[in-house]
Amino acid sequence: MIKGDFPLQEFGSLRTPFYYYDLGLLRRTLQRALAEAGKSPLYRLHYAVKANFNPVILREIASAGLGADCVSGGEVRAALDAGFKPGDIVFAGVGKSDWEIKLGLEAGIGRFNVESPEELRVISELACEAGVKAPVSIRVNPDIGAHTHANITTGLSENKFGVNYELLDDVLREAMALPGIEYRGLHFHIGSQITDMADFKALCNRINYLAGHLDRAGLPLGDINVGGGLGIEYEHPNHLPIADFATYFEVFRNHLQLPEGTVVHFEPGRSIVAPCGTLICRVLYVKQGTTRQFAIIDGSMTELIRPALYHAYHRIENLSSSEDEDIYDVVGPVCESSDVFGKAVSLDRCHRGDFIAVRSAGAYGESMASRYNLHELPEAYFATPRCRAAL
Ligand SMILES: *Cc1c(COP(=O)(O)O)cnc(C)c1O
Repeated sequence: MIKGDFPLQEFGSLRTPFYYYDLGLLRRTLQRALAEAGKSPLYRLHYAVKANFNPVILREIASAGLGADCVSGGEVRAALDAGFKPGDIVFAGVGKSDWEIKLGLEAGIGRFNVESPEELRVISELACEAGVKAPVSIRVNPDIGAHTHANITTGLSENKFGVNYELLDDVLREAMALPGIEYRGLHFHIGSQITDMADFKALCNRINYLAGHLDRAGLPLGDINVGGGLGIEYEHPNHLPIADFATYFEVFRNHLQLPEGTVVHFEPGRSIVAPCGTLICRVLYVKQGTTRQFAIIDGSMTELIRPALYHAYHRIENLSSSEDEDIYDVVGPVCESSDVFGKAVSLDRCHRGDFIAVRSAGAYGESMASRYNLHELPEAYFATPRCRAAL
């Protein structure tokens, strides 16, 4: 969306801050992802629900035909409510509670991605009690670093996720022996906001190595889930509004060497929903500090925590003004020094009441919102292709 596309007239009557989602862009993104993945008939997409679980967004994604990747019982419920087929739901997470496992078993979800031998035994027990077999993949910690922020790498041996790949044989043998478990495959996920394709190549190489190793050991491979992590272009949301799915899937096509007929699952989250969401805020005050000028806005880390949590960059635009640019630290009202959306941001001159757009906020924005400082949770509004501002 470019500046003129935002319906400021309609925004005038709404309480800020709020999320504004471009459903047309979401649909185009889904179509592109499905088309690029679909060049390989055995590639399957599961949307990572934690990136954004707004029910309207989830229903769009379910009706496009993707599966769902969940990391909690709450997300499994939300996915079911949104219309994802139980068999297309996969459930990962290092700490699944008993009720969450039971919920997955009752719903008949497609896969439990198991992250430790003890969890495997618990799932087997609960499945036996329920008189079913749990379809299971083993999440492997591939010890692969992703060149992204340290808080969002997940595939290093020091991270809490997955089973150390050196222990894989033992865990796999145990999975095959347990009465409540049906072993189905391997799961990986190395991190998020990955833009260096070398990281995914390294993952492919590790998977190829493990596939060969299991074959030599006479152990089954099953299907492969490579996780999510494809990054988006935060700097230029209008220039590249859709993630580079073509290059991404091409990396796996060129580098994965698996037995014929192996199904490969992908779990994109951010790359599906980040570009379509904007956090709309208003300028409360412009304040001159001793060395800096502050644009104090009504949005904060309680609606969008990524800048405070990961020093993440979001492009910020003043939608109301087209005066000469000035330099601002764009800050929220929360009583934390980290409540800063951007430092030394160049914005068209700001005045009280101006609408400020914080772009590419569709992933890990609304879903991470909190009520800290007793803020209300943000509302969400949707621009649909037919009716631009369905408010
Ligand atoms: C968070 C997560 C994803 C999605 O990651 P993105 O970077 O948003 O694509 C996929 N799989 C698992 C297991 C996750 O935890």
